[in-house]
Amino acid sequence: MIGKRWGLNPKITLWLYKTIVRPMLCYGALVWWPRTNLGNVRDKLQRLQRLACAAITGCTKSTPTAAMEVMLGLPPLYLHIQQEASLSAVRLNTLNIWSNTGVLHTKCLEKVYDEFPILRSGTDRIQKHVIFDKRYKIQLYEDDNYEGLNPKELRIFTDGSKTDNGSGSGTFSEDLNMSITTPLGAHNSVFQAECMGIINAAAAITARKVVGSSIRIFSDSRAVLMALRSHLITSKLIHECHKRLMEVSHKNEIILQWIKGHNGSRGNDAADELARQGSSAGAIGPEPILPIPFSKVRSMLLSYTGKLHTAHWLNQTGCRQSKMAMPSISEKLTRTLLQLGKVRLRMVTSVITGHGLFNKHLFITGATDSPLCRGCMETEETAAHVVLECSGVAPYRAKYLGSPRDLPEVLLNIKGLVGFLVGVGMAGLANPSLISRKIGARRRVEENRPFYNTIQGGISLQVSLIQSKICSFHSWHSFLESTCTF
Ligand SMILES: [Zn+2]
Repeated sequence: MIGKRWGLNPKITLWLYKTIVRPMLCYGALVWWPRTNLGNVRDKLQRLQRLACAAITGCTKSTPTAAMEVMLGLPPLYLHIQQEASLSAVRLNTLNIWSNTGVLHTKCLEKVYDEFPILRSGTDRIQKHVIFDKRYKIQLYEDDNYEGLNPKELRIFTDGSKTDNGSGSGTFSEDLNMSITTPLGAHNSVFQAECMGIINAAAAITARKVVGSSIRIFSDSRAVLMALRSHLITSKLIHECHKRLMEVSHKNEIILQWIKGHNGSRGNDAADELARQGSSAGAIGPEPILPIPFSKVRSMLLSYTGKLHTAHWLNQTGCRQSKMAMPSISEKLTRTLLQLGKVRLRMVTSVITGHGLFNKHLFITGATDSPLCRGCMETEETAAHVVLECSGVAPYRAKYLGSPRDLPEVLLNIKGLVGFLVGVGMAGLANPSLISRKIGARRRVEENRPFYNTIQGGISLQVSLIQSKICSFHSWHSFLESTCTF
């Protein structure tokens, strides 16, 4: 599936690793995560992740794993395993199937609660409920003239809103003389606010003792309506909403209808205004007002792992040039790098880490007898020198990169960096198949580039010496088997 210069592109390879290989490894992590605190286990896990990084970036053999992990936004495996274990612990505790026996592996829940005390209040997740009997109807499309559909029909408009202050829901009805605002605070999502609007509507119908009417509840949240329409319910709030609607649909005909938001409807605009008032008012009383959505628990734990990954990166003793190029972890850089093809990502990796076909690096590995720069013959040829300083390639730099001050500035313009590397002849070095064409326009063009000439004679030998041995998924599989016996 993956070779040195052929096979799946980096983005797909990373996706396969994240969605197939890593989850396989995390199976049962809740029980065995304490082993990830052992040095030898961390080493084994790092070796496994290194195979994935090498397959994605096509790096040279000596490229540091930590630098590639930062480039690809992959936290060290032991951190990821601990994160998945914590997530499972919170989920099991929410579902009331967690027993705290005091055994080592159960300590992760306390760790999570110490870090995020708000999670002690529980989350929105419940055991799966399968419900087929629903007396209310759900209409996911809009009628052209719903305002005048049925004059006897009672109409209630609901809406949710979220701002920096928090979220809030609004429920409005002229027919039932209803105008309700509910502030929900900072921890609840707009989905929950929309759902709360429908719950308020159902509660108000019960309180006003409306009987024998046809009631149409409008919501502009297709997600909430689809969750209510589904036969499988895993959210506490959606289950509560379902129960309230079943209660009022005993004696009334209830239809929930989707309506396009901000579309000039008077009722919807009024509900929207009420929701805004709720979101800007801030919560009254202790938060969270509603149980925290489980998706938020995941994002909290992900950001915590990100923080630990940053600390892990800053504490690395080596990786001098990689740290110069990437002083912090950047999601934007990862996204840009994953847009590149295999050969180009390999080139950029060599610039970021310094582990590539640069004379300084080749000299250290014993592949050349001089570390001097091929472009200017004045100083050592490092990635930073070639990209930032070398006078021999100044015209190429001016054309593709302008006048960058440092490597992080260069990495803001990956397209320009790739153009520069191709311009100076690095593309041929990164992809020996281009050089092995004895005759052809490509070779003649390459020969005129500053960084093509010096080592072309022995290029095949050097490349075979230096290029990394790229793994295949077959070897991952055997590695997984050996790694899983801690
Ligand atoms: Zn130079």
